[in-house]
Amino acid sequence: MFQLDDFTHEPRIAYFSMEIALQNDIPTYSGGLGVLAGDTMRSATDLELPVVAVTLVSRAGYFHQQLDAEGKQSETPMQWNPADHAERLNAKIAVMIEDRTVWISAWLYILAGHMNGQQPIILLDTDVAENSAEDRKITDTLYGGDSAYRLKQEVVLGIGGARLLQALGFEVRQYHMNEGHSALLGLELLRRFKYPSDDLRPDESPYDIPRVRELCCFTTHTPVEAGHDRFDYGLVQRMLGDIVDVVTLKHLAGDEALNMTSLALNLSEHVNGVAKRHAEVSRKMFPGYRVKAITNGVHPYTWASPSFAKIYDHHLPGWCHEPELLVRADCCISDEEILQAHRLAKASLIDKIESLTGATFDARLPTLGFARRMTAYKRPDLLFSDIERLKSIARNQPFQIVLAGKAHPHDEGGKQLIAALYRHVRELDGVVNMIFLPGYDMDIARLMVAGVDVWLNTPLRPMEASGTSGMKAAFNGVPNLSVLDGWWIEGCIEGVTGWAVGDSVESANGDDALALYDKLEQVVLPLYQEQDRWVKVMKGAICKNASFFNSHRMMRRYTTEAYIR
Ligand SMILES: *Cc1c(COP(=O)(O)O)cnc(C)c1O
Repeated sequence: MFQLDDFTHEPRIAYFSMEIALQNDIPTYSGGLGVLAGDTMRSATDLELPVVAVTLVSRAGYFHQQLDAEGKQSETPMQWNPADHAERLNAKIAVMIEDRTVWISAWLYILAGHMNGQQPIILLDTDVAENSAEDRKITDTLYGGDSAYRLKQEVVLGIGGARLLQALGFEVRQYHMNEGHSALLGLELLRRFKYPSDDLRPDESPYDIPRVRELCCFTTHTPVEAGHDRFDYGLVQRMLGDIVDVVTLKHLAGDEALNMTSLALNLSEHVNGVAKRHAEVSRKMFPGYRVKAITNGVHPYTWASPSFAKIYDHHLPGWCHEPELLVRADCCISDEEILQAHRLAKASLIDKIESLTGATFDARLPTLGFARRMTAYKRPDLLFSDIERLKSIARNQPFQIVLAGKAHPHDEGGKQLIAALYRHVRELDGVVNMIFLPGYDMDIARLMVAGVDVWLNTPLRPMEASGTSGMKAAFNGVPNLSVLDGWWIEGCIEGVTGWAVGDSVESANGDDALALYDKLEQVVLPLYQEQDRWVKVMKGAICKNASFFNSHRMMRRYTTEAYIR
């Protein structure tokens, strides 16, 4: 049996995240944030950094997506059994919620690297006999329920997680809050570092705030206002009582409502956004804070398809540990090997499409891929804003399209977008072969980012904090065609790594559809017919983007800039 002592003998970075994509059949993630958290831990493993991750067990998962013939989404729980993958730990701690004691137990999942190294992942679980039926469900549904449910989850994650680490004997050298969901851990730390009251002068804070700040760093992930959790102080008072005094709390988390982002900003020494542009936008959103940029990356071994991993292994051994080696891919790997690796990846995707839906796709046709959370600012419908124009492009230069993505259960707009995409499939029938794959998850993402020819992204600027699926495509020599937002502002070299939709970061969004049609018709589709020039762009994506936009670089930066200061 596995020994917890293997992990508690040295101080570790405690990485707190509401969701972590550990493996495809563990539904403790909803999308980009969770996949990033998983890639963060996978890189920490490969680099043998001392980290411990804390998240919720989410027994009912995110959800299983069902789509009827009209593209109407319905959700069913995606139940999983933690005992199949993790070991129950003996420790149990309590938090107070609504004046009740809520017990929190935990599971240990070991994330084992494909090279060496392993990381402990602590999955918090309130489903224990001591708790009321209602409290046993706190750690069930990821992003489910109302704001009271969410606040309870965040109490469990932040306060419960910090207490549990202590009970298990972890010495934490730095707490990393991946998004504001875990910011209540700062309140737990304030309680730990409280001055004796007879030492205080009038109006002096009873807490050693600088000491807490020294211990914390925070990554903010979205410029979308609704993405920042806020809780009414009435609710906070009812749930938490006086966890810290109200003057201190309002000072740190805002006067009107408890803003988790403000709390995290005020209690963290290091704060960063997830791309250079996102850091700039965040500095405007939160004036007065030093928000640095650490641009996201993706995990090399996870996102390179087997056919590409094989040629990298052969020509650039060590790339899994040192993905910078991929800068040499253009010279070390022949055009034919790149094209052959891509043919294999494309065949796997076409097989999967057929087995999932019965639809047949043509391996010779250029294929556009678009998959991400279905929500308004991602604009999955931009490509279809002028169906006649799209048809006329396709009549001269045929292509096909693969789509996927889930809409959050409460996001009606997102659900309507999926239904609209289903209508477009019918409108395009006979001219453009198009399919929407249900149940977007890591496995489908892996096949799509490698098996299409062009990876499309059309968000509304500046809402895409980073975006990571385009980086996954780069690992497979798939160029991006994307609006200049998030990571693509840094990653796009026109005609070398892919193409921009609209040429300016600031340009009016209204022109994006026109720019997209023009670029597709006049640049991308014609180039696809010239294989020797096309393969140069594939190599450009690998050399210039995969070598840089990987989570090893990201973790080396977190280590030197956030963890060791
Ligand atoms: C990578 C990934 C995402 C995030 O993609 P974005 O480009 O950031 O939107 C979401 N869901 C899954 C399953 C993924 O693999």
